[in-house]
Amino acid sequence: MNDWKTLDTDELNGLLQDRQAIYERYRNRRLRLDMSRGKPCPEQLELSMGMLDAVGSAHSPKTADGTDTRNYGGLDGIPEAKELFAQMLEVQPDEVIVGGSSSLTMMHDAIARAMLQGVLGSAAPWGKLSAVKFLCPSPGYDRHFAICELFGIEMIVVEMKHDGPDMDAVEKLVGEDESIKGIWCVPKYSNPDGITYSDEVVDRLARMQAKAADFRIFWDNAYAVHHVTDHPDRLKPILEACKAAGNPDRVFLFSSTSKISFSGAGVAAMSASVANLNQIRKALSVQTIGPDKINQLRHVRFFGGMDGIKAHMDKHAAIMKPKFDTVLSLLETELGDKGIASWNKPNGGYFISLNTLDGCAKEVVAMAAEAGVTLTKAGATYPYGRDPRDRNIRIAPSYPTLSELGTAIEILCVCVQIAGAKKLLS
Ligand code: PLP
Repeated sequence: MNDWKTLDTDELNGLLQDRQAIYERYRNRRLRLDMSRGKPCPEQLELSMGMLDAVGSAHSPKTADGTDTRNYGGLDGIPEAKELFAQMLEVQPDEVIVGGSSSLTMMHDAIARAMLQGVLGSAAPWGKLSAVKFLCPSPGYDRHFAICELFGIEMIVVEMKHDGPDMDAVEKLVGEDESIKGIWCVPKYSNPDGITYSDEVVDRLARMQAKAADFRIFWDNAYAVHHVTDHPDRLKPILEACKAAGNPDRVFLFSSTSKISFSGAGVAAMSASVANLNQIRKALSVQTIGPDKINQLRHVRFFGGMDGIKAHMDKHAAIMKPKFDTVLSLLETELGDKGIASWNKPNGGYFISLNTLDGCAKEVVAMAAEAGVTLTKAGATYPYGRDPRDRNIRIAPSYPTLSELGTAIEILCVCVQIAGAKKLLS
């Protein structure tokens, strides 16, 4: 099929009528398909069920150093769990705090502490300043943006390129404006683009001049080990890069096993320089007597180490790959070469990011919803829910079955074609 931009009005009208008829047939089927959030499917969750037996009545509840995980204490996590996350995040164990079950909570709390008390090196708590701004490479993760909105942090959109945020823009903004205190980054298999930052981007982030002495990179490495192909991306370790650039305190790293073991019942961790962590531990010791160490021990015992995590993630990939393949091959068949949509082909993560013609995303998401396909709200991948080009749609293929997914993507493609044809006719 030709590029639709080259078609004349009659041809486009013909295509539009044809697709509208197909759409009506789907609508009459009254389907209910949900692709709105990146949730693991039940088969993925089954992979970790053995973990629930790893700290049972027949096992010792004690860590290697004799700590009883059933009791209070161990503010920043058990040593074995620090070791595991240190390997995953490519940092040292003393640069890790292992927390509860949610890395998002740790990110929220890191911002809350910064607002109330500042971070290491702050002249004043961020909340006392007349303005606090964050750079938000977009499209990005809606819940990062929601945290900024909650705390009244002004968000500045930075364009995502094929290898990470537009670093010329980042360097300029961060170098000039003292009220820019941070940047959100999902550096590996980014949500939603599936992009992994290049070494050059990591190095530039680590060494750029920041006007704010207490500038922080919020490095949300949620998809560190979540490949879906046999040629995974490689991410340069940022804490090392920051140290090498003479900015050891610049970065806060976050991760969790939410999409390795159980979503909502995994283990989360943050990492930063020892100096940063010493400051954070002081506040943490007021907030809690310690995290759920039983869950940490369960995870360590079940996975054994990084090799165990890698083998486990291969099993996830075996479930996820056919889903990614289904989406990508349908997008290619239905939308390829038509010039009305573009998308990425990630090597991992949880999402495929689809761009329609400008001004079509809201209409597509609304039409899909009418036909029973729930997608992430259009605009959600941008700060304040405002996609300036109204074109980005996040596809989350993990939860539906393969056959549900196929139907959902067919419907989505018909909606993209209808909105695209209408746009070209307008
Ligand atoms: N960070 C990113 C980029 C995510 O996509 C998600 C979940 O979708 C999370 C964090 C949530 O992490 P957690 O379950 O550890 O709070």
